[in-house]
Amino acid sequence: MIQRTATRIEARPIDHDTRSWQQLLSASVTSPEVLLERLQLDPATWLSGAREGDRLFQLRVPEPYLQRIVPGDPADPLLRQILPLSAEADKRPGFVRDPLQESGAIPIAGLIRKYQSRALLMVTGQCAINCRYCFRRHFPYDENRLSPRDRADVLSSLTDDTRINEVIFSGGDPLVASDRLLSSWAESLADIPHIRRLRIHTRLPVVIPQRVCGSLLEWLSSSRLQMVMVLHVNHPAELDNHTRHALGRLKAAGVTLLNQSVLLRGVNDTADVLADLSERLFDCGVLPYYLHAFDPVEGAHHFDVSDDRARELVRQLIGTLPGFLVPKLVREVPDKPGKTPLDLFA
Ligand code: SF4
Repeated sequence: MIQRTATRIEARPIDHDTRSWQQLLSASVTSPEVLLERLQLDPATWLSGAREGDRLFQLRVPEPYLQRIVPGDPADPLLRQILPLSAEADKRPGFVRDPLQESGAIPIAGLIRKYQSRALLMVTGQCAINCRYCFRRHFPYDENRLSPRDRADVLSSLTDDTRINEVIFSGGDPLVASDRLLSSWAESLADIPHIRRLRIHTRLPVVIPQRVCGSLLEWLSSSRLQMVMVLHVNHPAELDNHTRHALGRLKAAGVTLLNQSVLLRGVNDTADVLADLSERLFDCGVLPYYLHAFDPVEGAHHFDVSDDRARELVRQLIGTLPGFLVPKLVREVPDKPGKTPLDLFA
């Protein structure tokens, strides 16, 4: 039986920060010392591990997200997603640097071709938040970023392949890029007749809701392309009232909003948290879409949840939630033509 827990967001109202998203992005916390001080965590316990993890994959957390973390609670599910730990230095069998083997699917720098009808553009290698479990934490962005020099080659490759009907902006987080750059890509893609949709994979409207600004809404709503935004929210406490407002603006601009979560030990590996997440997403106009089984990336083994546990959790959700609020449990398997659903009754 799932016990619903009330999310903390209503209980902890947070002042809206009036800085622009660019200001908030550049003021992100990147120092382990500052993070521990801000969150009232004992440096004697946490600092050495945080420095070690930070050396492997830099700490980065923006202010609006930081404000949703409960100070003094090392088990806070939002903190666990961003706090570097010494465990990240452990090497474990089966946990590798490129778990999805993406490096073999890059015909032109910045363009990933894994699926027949979809192409993925890596608009930027930067993120607004560095998630410790990220499957791209070792990705060589410097060698694979889309450059203005390669733009013509990428566009002609997309024009020549009439099977492609959807382009995905990925990264990094594509919304770290300027609206000028993104809108110019959207315009060029809209000139290719067989492209119908632009999908944007992003965490930014959640971690810095101010990113949903007038200039973003303008190019999203004025394109002939159908706009789909796939958000990445793992825990209901990531959705506060500012996020809800930002997502409402995206929806009003005609953007279809979906969410994908990653199943993470100590963050969202209980049925009540996942059920709350689905309900809260729907309250914000977002459909839960995928629940990803953990990708075995080196440095993040401590987030791993077994497939049996993952199946059990989703079976519990099926017994409690309407079908449209139950995300599909999937895994990305290298060389498979799409996500692979996990058999819930295996
Ligand atoms: S925002 Fe996405 S791409 Fe960036 S670190 Fe987090 S999971 Fe990885």
